[in-house]
Amino acid sequence: MQYRVEGIVIRSMDYGENNKIITVYTKTNGKVGIIVRGAKKAKSRHGAMTQLFTYGEYLYFRNSGLGTLTHGEIIQSHHVLREQLEMAAYSSYAAELTDRVLQEEDASVYMFEQLHACLTSIEEGKDPQIIIQLYELKILEAAGYGPNFENCVSCGNDQGSMALSARSGGVLCERCRYRDPSAPVLTDGALKLLRLFRRMDLRRLGAIQVKDETKKQLKQALRLLMDMHINVNLKSRSFLDQMDKFTL
Ligand SMILES: [Zn+2]
Repeated sequence: MQYRVEGIVIRSMDYGENNKIITVYTKTNGKVGIIVRGAKKAKSRHGAMTQLFTYGEYLYFRNSGLGTLTHGEIIQSHHVLREQLEMAAYSSYAAELTDRVLQEEDASVYMFEQLHACLTSIEEGKDPQIIIQLYELKILEAAGYGPNFENCVSCGNDQGSMALSARSGGVLCERCRYRDPSAPVLTDGALKLLRLFRRMDLRRLGAIQVKDETKKQLKQALRLLMDMHINVNLKSRSFLDQMDKFTL
């Protein structure tokens, strides 16, 4: 059967001497694996289509298993994301997260648009840490672990300071904090932003300035949630952590 999809390359690997196998996160068909024959040859028409983060239109033939690319057109090459180290590191993490967490049959136009907006925003030079945190929240939601920051998950209270309990799936108010004593208390700034991010569509992200202290808290909060619910060991995250240490 012949398919025509729009999608973003989230994984690309060599296969044999001349071929590549790419995983494309598509707008309409979830994740698909496509073999691109001859992609590694210098004169290949399709070589550029196999590069990580490329957004394109892919025509492929598939009976079962992997598809075989028959034709492709680049919509947005996102080449800047591959050339600049910091951008490449954050984009790789977003791609790897999408690849490892979302299931093959999980087709979602919304999630596709979120990934697309995530990469485009990084390319536009918006704060990559904030963009990635927003995307992590979308991934948590897609995986069925969307956290509740609005009101206490135990009693429903929405007033006062809140602590983030990853294992409870959201925040605990002062009265209920004893249920998870290890839950860190969020500052007002961090809580406000988490509530905003939880609802925000990445396509609507404007220029945003966040204080370093708040950023640190946001990072800690997302790390807790991701470690609790998305238990995968990502190479790209280890790299981001190393890069962070280096810049501090
Ligand atoms: Zn409570």
